[in-house]
Amino acid sequence: MREFDAKVVSAEGNRVVLDQTAFYPRGGGLVSDIGTLGAVKVTEVVKENGEVFHIVDSPGALKAGDVVHGSIDWDRRYKVMRMHTTAHIMCAIVNRETGALITGNQISPDESRIDFNLDQFDREKISDYTKVANGVVARGLEVKSYFMNREEALKMPGLVKLANALPPSVDVLRIVQIGDVDTQADGGVHVGNTREIGEIVVNRAENKGKNNRRLYFSLR
Ligand SMILES: [Zn+2]
Repeated sequence: MREFDAKVVSAEGNRVVLDQTAFYPRGGGLVSDIGTLGAVKVTEVVKENGEVFHIVDSPGALKAGDVVHGSIDWDRRYKVMRMHTTAHIMCAIVNRETGALITGNQISPDESRIDFNLDQFDREKISDYTKVANGVVARGLEVKSYFMNREEALKMPGLVKLANALPPSVDVLRIVQIGDVDTQADGGVHVGNTREIGEIVVNRAENKGKNNRRLYFSLR
């Protein structure tokens, strides 16, 4: 959803809460959406204690009860969706090939990075993983998202670790499945088909201390 209508619930300083929103708040390693609420610019969106705050550039321009038309900067969001699905594919492949787990990630529109708990990363291997990842992209796999009870999710082998890491209060999980390549409990934004990614380009790899390798990538 790129545009929507909503009602302002509260506006304090530069922080606006709406009764509903399509803005993705910063989280899970993904940057937040930016965009507009009517004539007001939204420069950042954050989630605190379950509430979504739209940070706006003109404090006082909106007040409780106002009806606003929200619009998301779609070019940027679409890049983040492509980047995020790419990160899942790269993680699945590196994990399958090396057993490495992901210790961090930062998904941004133009360049993203993933941290793996690995002690080695040679150039040739990175190039191999990237080829396999681009093969997945080219297969045009459907990316599906659906909801599942925690109990059910715990029965799925690959999901157990993640599901267990979530607080017990979360009893329904959103599952994102990329064809036969990756299935995760995940709250982030994704494309609908891997073909939308285009081509993955790994820019460089860095050593970030013992057992930590960082991979930077962009899309073409
Ligand atoms: Zn994700």
